[in-house]
Amino acid sequence: MKRIVIVGGGVAGLGAAYKVRRAADAGAEVSFTLVEKDPRLGGKLATDIVADPDGGTYVVDGGSDSFLTDKPAIHRVAKLLGIFDQETGTLDENKKTFIVKDARLVEMPDGIMMFAPTKILPMATTKLYSWPAKLRMALDLVIPRKRVEPGTRNDESVEDFVIRRMGRECLERLAEPLVGGVNGSDPADMSLAATYPNLLEMEQTYGSLVRGFLAQRRKVEAMRGAHPPKPGDKRRTFFSSFVPGLQFLTDRMADAAGRDDIRTGVAATRIARAGDGWVVTLDTGETIACDAVVLAPEVWAAASLMRDVDAAVADLLAQTPSSSCATILMAFREEDCPFDKRWHGALSPAVERRAVTGISLMSSKWPSRAPEGRVLLRGFVGGARDEDIVRLPDDKLVDIAISEYVQLLGLRPGAEPIFSRVFRWERGMPQYTMGHLDRLEEIESRVAGIPGIALAGGGYRGVGVPNCLDSGEQAVRKVMSEWGIELAEDAEPPARAH
Ligand SMILES: Cc1cc2nc3c(=O)[nH]c(=O)nc-3n(C[C@H](O)[C@H](O)[C@H](O)COP(=O)(O)OP(=O)(O)OC[C@H]3O[C@@H](n4cnc5c(N)ncnc54)[C@H](O)[C@@H]3O)c2cc1C
Repeated sequence: MKRIVIVGGGVAGLGAAYKVRRAADAGAEVSFTLVEKDPRLGGKLATDIVADPDGGTYVVDGGSDSFLTDKPAIHRVAKLLGIFDQETGTLDENKKTFIVKDARLVEMPDGIMMFAPTKILPMATTKLYSWPAKLRMALDLVIPRKRVEPGTRNDESVEDFVIRRMGRECLERLAEPLVGGVNGSDPADMSLAATYPNLLEMEQTYGSLVRGFLAQRRKVEAMRGAHPPKPGDKRRTFFSSFVPGLQFLTDRMADAAGRDDIRTGVAATRIARAGDGWVVTLDTGETIACDAVVLAPEVWAAASLMRDVDAAVADLLAQTPSSSCATILMAFREEDCPFDKRWHGALSPAVERRAVTGISLMSSKWPSRAPEGRVLLRGFVGGARDEDIVRLPDDKLVDIAISEYVQLLGLRPGAEPIFSRVFRWERGMPQYTMGHLDRLEEIESRVAGIPGIALAGGGYRGVGVPNCLDSGEQAVRKVMSEWGIELAEDAEPPARAH
């Protein structure tokens, strides 16, 4: 019987554990022990269910609140777990997004894809950009594509790319809050090849982002025309979640993997070779001998645990920085919120210099997040722009968020939240900075040569929840194939299952 120790109980670590369980159920001689340093499983998937004093409950997602519907990993696993019917789309009737400009909310013009305009009229009439900025963005249609020397990696920072194609105002007013804010990153440091490689490809293929996104839009519309939804089909929206919140996924994965083999509140502190296998030391002083270790903690924790395994890999891992952020969840009575509530989110560009960088109106974005007559808001602070704010005490963060909601949204001054929760994510957002892909290739090639060690999680090839889940499964594949056990693919869900 081969034994795998999995370090980290986020979606990547639990993805690995559930994969090992399926392999064992299919007859492979393999077992696992998962150790998670927090008392709660799920990592950045963290849902609290909060009761309202007048009845009903709130579904409060403090970490990730959604996943990209187009990526199949979660649908596939949800089907295996029997929870696919609990997946939910967003409420598209409310899907407006606002960008803060001069301390007011300006609606994002229709037809913007990422940050490229694909419809003329909304772009011409929007107050989000000045006229010179609109004309500068139109130049994207004629600016020649970048020449890429054969044999070199096509990469540049998100900031350089957006300024080169669309101009500085597009960067500051839209690209920065959309791609920087959401990733907790500074676009000046972000590697485009590691974060949005499709934009580089688009430039090379179409010579223009506007033409590229227009072609993408036409393709989607043609697909929709060719495959109209059948009666009874689930509504398909860009983002999805689960009705009971996103942690529902990791909770059910833990149940199916087997909670007897999962230990919480216990951290791994060292990994060392022991003969042909490994020994993992825990902060309780215990040691676990095993044949393989799947390392699925945050990238900085992986760097420290790899130190005695391969110092060069540890050094490379330590070069991925991580930014800190916090989310502040609060519910209010509807009468305290006399503003239009048909929107999902509002983003504050860095140039606006506001403490709250993003606001999600959770009760309008998702079904059943709050009882009738209640409004659930989620504010986001921190990220690469302002990490120190995350260390402020809870009551300060709540006050900051309330004062932003009064100024920006029109929350009634003096309104008291029914409840508030602050979730802190210190060093919780890995940053794919310039050189990330080169470092990653070196890490992957070195780890490929270390039998019984595999890395998984958001620090490597995608921070999105489906990518992380995939990476946990791939890590199990790596170590099991070293033992000559090739795992069968799970049946993929139909392409347009949701
Ligand atoms: C506020 C926020 C919002 C986000 N929103 C979205 C979103 O809407 N959509 C999306 O797709 N992605 C989103 N993300 C990103 C996504 O949630 C993460 O990339 C993903 O959940 C990471 O999963 P993981 O398993 O790799 O790591 P984690 O969830 O970080 O899990 C790692 C686990 O390892 C544990 N650990 C660390 N060290 C040790 C040790 N020594 N021993 C034992 N255990 C250890 C940690 O306690 C943690 O539980 C968001 C992230 C944040 C922070």
